[in-house]
Amino acid sequence: MPVHLYDTLTRSQREIRSEDGEALRFYCCGPTVYGPAHIGNLRTFLLQDVFRRTVEMTGIPVKHVRNLTDVDDKTIRESREQGVPLKEFTRKWTERFHDDAKKLNLLAPAFEPAATDHIKSQIDLISRLIDAGHAYATDSGSVYFRVSSFDEYGKLSRLKEREITTGREPAAGGPIDADEYERDSGADFALWKARKEEDGEIYWDSPWGAGRPGWHLECSAMSMDYLGETFDVHGGGVDLVFPHHENEIAQSEACTGKPFVRHWFHCAHLMVDGKKMSKSLGNLYTLEDLQAKGFSPMALRYELISAHYRQQLNFTLDSLQAAESALKKLRRKADRFMESSGLTKSEFYDRETILENRPESLGPFQSAWERLLDDLNTPAALGELFRVIGGAEDKSRGNAFAYAFVLFALGINLHSEQEPKAREVPDEIRRLADERWEAKSARDFARADALRQELTEAGWKVLDRKDGYDIEPAG
Ligand code: AMP
Ligand code: ZN
Repeated sequence: MPVHLYDTLTRSQREIRSEDGEALRFYCCGPTVYGPAHIGNLRTFLLQDVFRRTVEMTGIPVKHVRNLTDVDDKTIRESREQGVPLKEFTRKWTERFHDDAKKLNLLAPAFEPAATDHIKSQIDLISRLIDAGHAYATDSGSVYFRVSSFDEYGKLSRLKEREITTGREPAAGGPIDADEYERDSGADFALWKARKEEDGEIYWDSPWGAGRPGWHLECSAMSMDYLGETFDVHGGGVDLVFPHHENEIAQSEACTGKPFVRHWFHCAHLMVDGKKMSKSLGNLYTLEDLQAKGFSPMALRYELISAHYRQQLNFTLDSLQAAESALKKLRRKADRFMESSGLTKSEFYDRETILENRPESLGPFQSAWERLLDDLNTPAALGELFRVIGGAEDKSRGNAFAYAFVLFALGINLHSEQEPKAREVPDEIRRLADERWEAKSARDFARADALRQELTEAGWKVLDRKDGYDIEPAG
């Protein structure tokens, strides 16, 4: 069964397939590397990761490209303020991003091109656009895309010309650079920005003089460099629909005369405590902030994918706490499955092993999987998982692999090194705890108490739940 996903351009749900029958070509706008990613950024990257995993589990390989925006106003300003060369500055934040990505179990993209390593392709694109009459250079050495030359401008965001112009006004887009007054129309956007004093030593030579590429251009250049002039799926946060993706379409299609992207995948924004995240409100979190509060990266992953990608997620610390408890239940089930079917952790989490051993139909877990295929409905898939693991036990090997299959698609690793040590319960302790649970279930309270005493003496604490127990080191 294929994956269906909502497409922003056609405003409809469509089947995901690779046009050439080879790998699905998937481009994502990546992080701007001038500081740590916040949990809003991470939510978008996580949902893109669940999408990629889900497609791959259906048997279609994915060629995933996610860029690094390593030159823009923010990276330049911050690196200059800190007196660090731009490349060195962005390398530090790229490494930090990679650390976060690893902790959150994000699969690494096949390519992660940086804007500053692709200046030549950006300059080539601009030259082609000027030659075709879609762009013009100004006296001060900037180059603009002429929006009126591309009839379909606005097709993604469905903005009328008036609204497009409004969207470029200073209040919405930040202060207008002096050179921007030279634009023929307020809707035109920069492809090349002439060097300014505040750019310091950060500039490249071009046929129009020293300067740097505009932000929108890098994604057109790099996506086409790695994935071809037309590719399958393009993802990003919903804030990028306009102007970033609208401009990517204009630049690319005006240049090639071909459709740029077949399917647009946008993720709704994350809110914190019901408000937009911002430094001034003090509600901007990074993974590090949450780890410092004692939360595990996997709980953050769980929490951030627990709302549908087209719905805003309201993040609270309480919901993150609830995610930790939800993971415990899932982990307990995984432990039981591994025990009963003799699977090792490395088998349980190995994609190839799962694919080789999964039953044709996923049995009780089929419904969770189908929710994912249906417009990546992560909350419904998680709901189905809990429904199944709360029901009658069937700890067959096939079911163990079916469970592992759905967890892999969600990217939930219940035994990553980041988790508290409490999960490594020795066999003997597990046996005593199981025995105690059975005694309690049979209302043999004297025996249950004696076993609890034994466990306490061995340094373990048992916490009863409706449908089982948790066990963790005491103290
Ligand atoms: P940036 O590092 O700002 O270039 O953004 C990286 C990705 O995060 C882009 O796809 C943005 O659309 C996305 N993004 C930014 N803010 C949020 C948010 N609050 N919630 C979800 N995604 C976001
Ligand atoms: Zn982009």
